[in-house]
Amino acid sequence: EEPEEIFAEQSELPDFKLIAKIGEGAFSKVFRAVPQPHSTNGFLSRTFQQVAVKVINKRELTSSHKDSKSKTTSKEQVLKEVAIHRTVSASDNVVSFVDFHESEQFYFIIQELLAGGEIFGEIVRLTYFSEDLSRHVIRQLALAVQHMHALGIVHRDIKPENLLFEPIDYEPSPTPVLRRSDDPKTKQDEGVFRPGIGGGGIGVVKLADFGLCKQIYSTNTKTPCGTVGYTAPEVVKDERYSMKVDMWGIGCVLYTVLCGFPPFYDEKIDVLTEKISKGEFTFLRPWWDEISDGAKNAVRKLLEVDPKKRYNIDEFLTDPWLNQYDCTRLQGL
Ligand code: ADP
Ligand code: MG
Repeated sequence: EEPEEIFAEQSELPDFKLIAKIGEGAFSKVFRAVPQPHSTNGFLSRTFQQVAVKVINKRELTSSHKDSKSKTTSKEQVLKEVAIHRTVSASDNVVSFVDFHESEQFYFIIQELLAGGEIFGEIVRLTYFSEDLSRHVIRQLALAVQHMHALGIVHRDIKPENLLFEPIDYEPSPTPVLRRSDDPKTKQDEGVFRPGIGGGGIGVVKLADFGLCKQIYSTNTKTPCGTVGYTAPEVVKDERYSMKVDMWGIGCVLYTVLCGFPPFYDEKIDVLTEKISKGEFTFLRPWWDEISDGAKNAVRKLLEVDPKKRYNIDEFLTDPWLNQYDCTRLQGL
């Protein structure tokens, strides 16, 4: 039997047993954990077999700054992340919020565990996804975004690392597929969508990480947050189109799952920035040769530089490619 690892965080979280570290971000460590039966909150152990615990070390927090994109975070931001996570939690395609705990050294955000981990890992494993598997994943991402946008909240950090999934077991095909190692399509076999069973081991997909979220308007009043009368026109315009940043994010993820590499890339950050600002991407040959026009059209309408012309979430949800096959029956897997 393996010796159990002792985590420094454990002593400040008596209601859960930390089992293993499963993820890491700029300011966080994420653990798989089980509720302790002796927990003061019996509900937890009755409801959850396992959870994911995101731990933020207070010593790594810095104070006073406004730019949430900068590589610093603050107590206010952690509390904002928790508040927004609570708000958006009630959706099938958003990682459920469970509890929040503050100790002397740490903040603990307790959430439902997505045992499959990141969609990012599946892209690495499979190289790229079939169109059906891509649709299966992107449709669920779109439903998460629709839920958040309806609440006036922008995610602002949509990427394969923040997309988690529940694995499903599917029966391997009875006749083994003959594989040639030099065949570029070989790896695709593993990612083949099996109707009625699921998608290449990917079941339910959920959006995670609410650390960069922003509330654009309140749902009660449907008015922008902040004092409206004194807001500058460029800010008003900014807020109106700010939801569209998530649509761009969906476009980047869709492009990436379909071919296995991102739409914009350069080693020099200024060159990359220039490409993005011009919306300069191509359907690179030979990787995009076999991909349908419908999929390319959806990518184009998401990676549209002008936010006014870019798909909004409701338009994307009616996109012909996204609706080519009925995947809704797979939602409950
Ligand atoms: P950060 O804000 O630091 O990026 P995240 O919330 O994105 O933190 O979590 C970091 C990583 O931890 C994720 O990319 C993922 O690999 C893992 N992770 C986070 N939450 C869960 C969860 N609920 N289930 C499984 N893995 C998770
Ligand atoms: Mg993250």
